[in-house]
Amino acid sequence: CGIIGIASNKKDKSLTDVLVSSLSRLEYRGYDSVGVASLDDEGIDVRKAKGKVVEVVKTKKINEMSGYIFLGHTRWATHGAPNDQNAHPHVDCSGRIAVVHNGTLNNYKELREELESLGHKFRSDTDTEVIPHLVEEFMKRDMESFEAFKAAVSSLRGSYAILMIMEGEKRIFFARLDNPLVIGLGEDKNFIASEYAPFLPLTNTVVTIQDGEIGFITPSSVYIEKDGKIVDVNERVHKLNFT
Ligand code: GLU
Repeated sequence: CGIIGIASNKKDKSLTDVLVSSLSRLEYRGYDSVGVASLDDEGIDVRKAKGKVVEVVKTKKINEMSGYIFLGHTRWATHGAPNDQNAHPHVDCSGRIAVVHNGTLNNYKELREELESLGHKFRSDTDTEVIPHLVEEFMKRDMESFEAFKAAVSSLRGSYAILMIMEGEKRIFFARLDNPLVIGLGEDKNFIASEYAPFLPLTNTVVTIQDGEIGFITPSSVYIEKDGKIVDVNERVHKLNFT
C-alpha cells in the first residue's frame, strides 16, 4: 500500500491539495480503499472508504478537511476484505489515536485476543487495528506517548511501515521494518511517505530511514532511534538530484 504523513506549523488550505495529490501518486501501490486522518485543536477526524482516490475524495469531502497534521493511506488488503471499516486509518477505543500501516502482522490474532480480554472493542478485521489499541493500553499504564508507541511496536511480529498521530501531539510517530519509508524536509512542514514521489513537488531534501528504526517528525524536526540509541539525523540528510 501507500502511506503519507504531513506535519505542518500552520493550518493551511493547500495541505489537503498536497494530501490528495499524494494519494493519487501512491494509488498504484494499493487501490482497494482510501483513507485520511486530520488533526487540529478539536481532535482527530477520520474519513475513509472502499473505492478509488477520486471517488473517496469526492464522497468524503477530503478537500474540505483542515488540520496541522494529516495521514493518508491507499490500501492493498491482506487481512480483512476491502470494505469501509477495514480501510485505514484505524483508531483506538477513544478515537484519539490514528494509525496507517503498510505490511502484515503475523501475531495480530494473539494480540487482538489479549486486547479484547482487557476490554478493547475492535471495529475492523485488519491486523493493523491492534496497533492503536496497544498504544492506548500502554498509555493507560502511564507510559508517555513515544514510550507507548515503542512498546507497541516491539510487540509486533511481521513487516511494517507505520505512521501514528495522537490528539494533543503535534508530531507523526513512525516505525519501519521490511517496508519502505522516507522523510522529506519542507518549509514549515515535513513529510513522511512510502516513497519520494508524493512530496517531490515540494522538496528534494530528504532523510532516509533504515529498517528497525523508530521515531517521529514534527513540522520542524526529525527524531530517529535504533535499538534505543539516537541516530544522528544530519548524517541522513541529502538532496535528490534530478540532472
Ligand atoms: N495488512 C494491512 C491490511 O490488510 C495493510 C495492507 C497494506 O499494506 O495495504 O489492512
